[in-house]
Amino acid sequence: MVLTGQTIGTNEKAALRIFDLCGVTMRKKLSIVGRGTVGCLATAQFLKYTDVDIDWIYNPKVMPASVGEGTTLLFPLSLKNALGLSWSDLNALGATPKTGIYKEDWASSGNKFTHSFPCGATGLHFNATAFQNYVFDIIKGNPRVNVIEDNVSDYSKVDADHILVCAGSPKYDDGLIKHEEIPVNAAFVTQCYWDFPRFTDTLTIARPYGWVFGIPLQNRCAIGYLYNKNINTLGEIKDDVKHVFEKYKLEPSETTNSLTFNRYSRKINFTNRIIYNGNSSFFLEPLEATTLCLADTFNSHAFNVWFNDVPLSIANDAYARDISDVKAMILLHYMAGSAFDTPFWEHAKEKATTFIKSLFTKNDAFAYNVIRILDGKKIDLDVYNALNKTDDMGTWMDTSFKTNIHNLKIDGLLRSYNEDKICTKRYSKPNWKTHYGGAIPYAV
Ligand SMILES: Cc1cc2nc3c(=O)[nH]c(=O)nc-3n(C[C@H](O)[C@H](O)[C@H](O)COP(=O)(O)OP(=O)(O)OC[C@H]3O[C@@H](n4cnc5c(N)ncnc54)[C@H](O)[C@@H]3O)c2cc1C
Repeated sequence: MVLTGQTIGTNEKAALRIFDLCGVTMRKKLSIVGRGTVGCLATAQFLKYTDVDIDWIYNPKVMPASVGEGTTLLFPLSLKNALGLSWSDLNALGATPKTGIYKEDWASSGNKFTHSFPCGATGLHFNATAFQNYVFDIIKGNPRVNVIEDNVSDYSKVDADHILVCAGSPKYDDGLIKHEEIPVNAAFVTQCYWDFPRFTDTLTIARPYGWVFGIPLQNRCAIGYLYNKNINTLGEIKDDVKHVFEKYKLEPSETTNSLTFNRYSRKINFTNRIIYNGNSSFFLEPLEATTLCLADTFNSHAFNVWFNDVPLSIANDAYARDISDVKAMILLHYMAGSAFDTPFWEHAKEKATTFIKSLFTKNDAFAYNVIRILDGKKIDLDVYNALNKTDDMGTWMDTSFKTNIHNLKIDGLLRSYNEDKICTKRYSKPNWKTHYGGAIPYAV
């Protein structure tokens, strides 16, 4: 029996348990839509941590994103936990260990610092397309996976108890919260081939019209210029990025990619039948490489909702909290400004400052915890709900915030916004049996 086109209520769950007691195995059926980086990660994790059968559906005519090649510390652990990958496997992905995020000309001219990762922990730089193909090849022969090439246009017709939608960017409509304080909405990416990686940190370089990432892979460095298409032209970007090629002695190739994007998240992301992840769920921007880490966390929340009876409201709350924290962490950078006094930076600084100030006025948990961090205290996790089990706020830990805030020279500014209120909202922490879908080994 497969329950189709409806949510499973309490009665159905009770019935399923009776079947279980009678020794009849009732396995749920899950559909995962999309085989981009997030769909691949999700399929690997649900295969590993559940016994469900999975229909893995994707439209072969819609290519997955080839960007998204730098990660936080969580992603390599997830690959180890879900797929058993080791560093030698990662050679197939052109991957290199990522030791930190180097920043140049943020806050002021000549300002240089590294958001350095703790000794013994690394993120990854990896070839996104190679990753998607590698995981697809490992998984496609699994007897519990039914790979289906199809275009899903109506989710109510999908034959599954649960559907994880990782189908790329949604229509930019009223179902989304729009995060237009993020000042960039376009990217120009150039592949620069080399014989070996010349550095191990991701580069993030402030430029007059935005900022530039440099992701060092084994055989190439991906240089991406993030900018605002309403303020600057692609021609200006192509011209300005030459400064980065010259400074880092990189040879630009003809392999380039010009793309635009929205900044959004879902008003409601988690329901009993459909949960969204990856670009289908949210996107802010690439600064600090938070997207895949969040997607990993939201896979865990999906697992907890569908397989551990965690209430939907808790998952939706945790989602909104994480998006807000990551957005705030990104905007701290723009609030600090840069070496450049241009229309882009004027716009970016103004939007970011307004947003960050509003968090202090609302006495948001982020503002409260930022001041705790500056005071040398630990992040207070009681202001978050029970699904936030790590010591991180958003995707990064207190030491990351300290490094960024101090080197962006905004300690004093943030303190000046603080009205010495105490964040009084507290969540009770029922002891659900939660499971992090492989993201965090010690919680498994
Ligand atoms: C310039 C740039 C740089 C970035 N850098 C980083 C970074 O360094 N780190 C980071 O964490 N993130 C980064 N990101 C974000 C990252 O690229 C995305 O989070 C990620 O690629 C999203 O992948 P996805 O699997 O959600 O979607 P996609 O890759 O878009 O995959 C969508 C899949 O859905 C399928 N599909 C679509 N429609 C249908 C349909 N109707 N029916 C069936 N199948 C369908 C497609 O065939 C495809 O397989 C960056 C983003 C940008 C724009």
